[in-house]
Amino acid sequence: MKVGVIGLGAMGGHMALNFHKAGFLHAIWNRTPGKAKSIVEKTGVKISETPSQLAGECELIVTCVSRDKDVLEIIQSISVAIKPDTVVADTSTVSSETARQAAAIMQDKQVYFLDCPVSGGVEGAKKGTLAMMVGGNEKVLERVRPTLSAIAANIAYIGPTGSGQACKAVNQLMAAGINQAVTESLAFGLAMGLDMDKVVDIVATGAAGNWFLDHRGKTMLAGAYHPGFKLSLHHKDLQICQVMLQNVSKAALPMIEMTLIHYQRLMDEGFGNEDISALFRLKKRQLETVAKES
Ligand code: NAP
Repeated sequence: MKVGVIGLGAMGGHMALNFHKAGFLHAIWNRTPGKAKSIVEKTGVKISETPSQLAGECELIVTCVSRDKDVLEIIQSISVAIKPDTVVADTSTVSSETARQAAAIMQDKQVYFLDCPVSGGVEGAKKGTLAMMVGGNEKVLERVRPTLSAIAANIAYIGPTGSGQACKAVNQLMAAGINQAVTESLAFGLAMGLDMDKVVDIVATGAAGNWFLDHRGKTMLAGAYHPGFKLSLHHKDLQICQVMLQNVSKAALPMIEMTLIHYQRLMDEGFGNEDISALFRLKKRQLETVAKES
């Protein structure tokens, strides 16, 4: 199956490399050409001149761009030359509504659209072990599942178009809570004057152990916040959760509201392109301020 990858950022670049390793990669395209060139050096695969050229040559198109408007722009541009029966798998994290709009545009071209958001971080993308949550036509998923297995170790069919993104919203909300819990707890440990490397090592093996602590605990303690997952992108995801919730309930969830405020503060300070673990900056500052005041 000929695969084309559009969007070669932190996630999409690794996806392209894994499709290449599995023998599926046919073409790539990235808005900023430099990122595509580094993939060409590693794979020898061709860079398409436009998303539309790529779409005309591939049987499975995998997109991985930032936001809702970016996905719709790409979908519009590939719709010009895409052939009937092609499958588009969008791995970006966007709203269920955007997935439905994209599917409708593709349906007019007799093209199948699957919303396929992923979880597992840059590490999961690199190893090809992502968790993928899929919305759309189940039979179409079964057709492309062996190919998508090049980038994802677990692929779950969730339901009709938009369900994959709704499932990912659950994941992103949970990730916000985990980020809050880990950054606040480590700032607390630091304020207690503990040897935090030892703390991370032992806590990680007990009931509070988790992926985020394993992968980001020691880097945040060292003051390193290289993404990873950009804070501004998680902010975008929590806004999606907020709108989804407003559609079904008048309630507001503290985890969404509080994390949006914290992320906005960090973005205003210029840290939006850092990893989400940069929340540790605020937590440390909070405890230091209280200590000085008392
Ligand atoms: P990233 O490193 O910032 O890369 C974003 C990619 O999207 C870049 O290739 C960028 O092109 C492209 N792009 C953005 N707007 C575009 C547009 N209008 N037209 C064409 N290309 C456009 O982000 P990432 O971390 O790979 O994340 C990509 C998506 O996956 C996001 O929706 C994110 O929420 C989701 N995600 C991320 C992670 C993670 O841990 N990083 C995990 C799961 C899901 P340029 O190079 O030209 O800027």
